[in-house]
Amino acid sequence: MSRLLCQFSCGAASAVATKIAVQAWNPELVMVLNADIAAEHPDGRRFFADCEKWIGRTFTVLRDEKYGADPIEVFRRRRYIKGPNGAACSGPLKRDLLRALEQPGDILVLGYTAEEEERYDDFVEAWPDRKIIAPLIAQGLTKEDCKAMVLRAGIRLPRMYELGYDNNNCIACVKGGQKYFRAIREDFPERFEALAQVEEDIGPSAYILHHRSGPLKGQRFPLRELSTDGPVQRNEKLPSCGLFCEVAEQDYSE
Ligand code: SF4
Repeated sequence: MSRLLCQFSCGAASAVATKIAVQAWNPELVMVLNADIAAEHPDGRRFFADCEKWIGRTFTVLRDEKYGADPIEVFRRRRYIKGPNGAACSGPLKRDLLRALEQPGDILVLGYTAEEEERYDDFVEAWPDRKIIAPLIAQGLTKEDCKAMVLRAGIRLPRMYELGYDNNNCIACVKGGQKYFRAIREDFPERFEALAQVEEDIGPSAYILHHRSGPLKGQRFPLRELSTDGPVQRNEKLPSCGLFCEVAEQDYSE
């Protein structure tokens, strides 16, 4: 029997996917992996502990040592934030940690929800030889279903969901857009400022936002110039950032 690698990202979907997947597997061959990132909301550790009890397995925590598991430190030292090949942080803080312990024949449990079937198909296309299962898609479970299941299990949702955010990515995730960053500036001004500062230190090549319309459409601009009168949207859909989906995204870019 193969090893089953489940990614627990401190979000509701990965919690339910893990809960479903581990039931039918030899406990000796299950690894539930979690990348501990310094920039995630601290309530993620409470959710981690609650889900460990609910799922009934001891989770394995992976933590980058080189950058202190901190995206800002990655950006500062690599002098790069994100580009066509993705964000500078997700490799060293997540993807590389998985690669270090993955073995041939492992089965990956993907937490894609029913509304993410296209992303699942992309993964399968990019990795035809890889053994994967996607329990949420197999059972038609949406992200909202997963949140409801977690609540019904008596577990409080992660604080970022309670604040209205769509996922439990790092606070000030560089995959966000203008509406998301207006929300971050209101809710977590110190995180917004830290990212704005590192952008400024690196220079224009690091700007993560760009004008969506008007004469400057497509041009990048610094976070500090983000207008204060535009829309704020906490639940802006951000690509998830997990150990496994990042593996796929890296593959596309390669
Ligand atoms: S959640 Fe966002 S900021 Fe955090 S590691 Fe992933 S891409 Fe980087």
